[in-house]
Amino acid sequence: MPSYLCVGAGFSGAVIARELAEKCHAVHVIDERPHLAGNCHTERDAQTGIQIHKYGPHIFHTADREVWDYINRFGEMMPYVHRVKATSRGKVYSLPINLHTINQFFGACMSPTEARDFIDKLGDKSITDPQSFEDQALAFLGNDLYQAFFRGYTLKQWGMEPSELPASILKRLPVRFDYDDNYFDHPYQGMPKNGYTEIVKNILDHTNITVSLGTSFESIDRTAYEHIFYSGPLDRYFAYRLGRLAYRTLEFREIRAKGDFQGTAQMNQSDAEVPFTRITEHKHFTPWETHVDTVCYEEHSRFAEADDTPYYPIRMVKEKALLAEYQALAEKESRVTFVGRLGTYRYLDMDVTIREALEVGRRVIG
Ligand code: FAD
Ligand code: UDP
Repeated sequence: MPSYLCVGAGFSGAVIARELAEKCHAVHVIDERPHLAGNCHTERDAQTGIQIHKYGPHIFHTADREVWDYINRFGEMMPYVHRVKATSRGKVYSLPINLHTINQFFGACMSPTEARDFIDKLGDKSITDPQSFEDQALAFLGNDLYQAFFRGYTLKQWGMEPSELPASILKRLPVRFDYDDNYFDHPYQGMPKNGYTEIVKNILDHTNITVSLGTSFESIDRTAYEHIFYSGPLDRYFAYRLGRLAYRTLEFREIRAKGDFQGTAQMNQSDAEVPFTRITEHKHFTPWETHVDTVCYEEHSRFAEADDTPYYPIRMVKEKALLAEYQALAEKESRVTFVGRLGTYRYLDMDVTIREALEVGRRVIG
């Protein structure tokens, strides 16, 4: 009987299981879904052969060399640079805001220095310590760019005014004063040649690991294990006894078309009146492949009800207070370590998820 249980076969569960297995521990990995890789799951579309990101687009990017080497150890990463476009009031711009966006938007041909001075003057100097998303945007970009690219999109994505949201959400997006339109700042970026699911399968391919898919934590005898690494929702572990931690969920409306639908992997819709946030066109995530037809996902964001897939944790004051109560309960569970995006109720990119899972796995004595 394995002495360790990993709940969830996403990157968290898989990486921890591998660390334990390599130290000669027997590990049982379960997931209630019928597939591996959690929300990073990819599969080839039966009709077109296109690699589909079933739970939304996933681009691997990191500054962590060890994590980059780790992912490359378990699958071939292809060169890929994520470039995003945005449609705002009937015109297409480049994101994140860069010199091209600024010159297009203001009908100018400014140099990097001129653009920096220009944007600096647009910023609202009365906001000295921006706390909200809106204040952060107004302080650094001014009202015009904020209204054109951020207010509508954020309202749709989060279901609330940016003035109610923390500034930290906007801090994820850089502003550039050159023509670099790479969406990410990290030095390592790529896309797995055969998808994320193959990488997770390879991580779990070890004689000391057994995997049971279609198996929920609630259905198994947890007392049989010495220690549990739980990457499911924190509140669910405690049967929601204090209430539910709130999430945003996404609905993906599939679009099938001939040829090229939008000419790029990601087109954001900045205007509040357009009822979705973005369209992703999956075949553009694998530019080294050729596909005649195309499959896109139109993303609709809304509040997650009890049966919906939880995507983005809503970490507002009320939720953080509830989180603290659950964390207090979690600390008393000496045989359980809560990990990953759901187990810790945080937005975690894949590289951070892998880094944290490596650290957790390494703490276990071999
Ligand atoms: P998950 O992948 O969610 O895995 C948890 C698993 O646990 C799931 O498979 C679930 O079925 C299982 N589970 C839960 N409860 C139970 C239970 N009770 N019993 C059995 N099994 C259970 N990151 C990037 O780096 N780049 C991106 O471009 C990117 N894009 C994203 C886009 C979207 C829309 C979202 C929401 C996230 C994105 N991420 C991205 C983040 C990425 O999805 C996470 O880093 C990653 O999924 C975290 O892995 P995890 O193993 O912690 O969680
Ligand atoms: N955002 C925006 N306009 C855009 C893209 C992003 O206002 O065109 C805001 C939005 O609030 C979003 C946040 O910036 O939640 C972070 O953007 P990112 O592209 O990192 O979002 P993710 O890929 O995580 O959905």
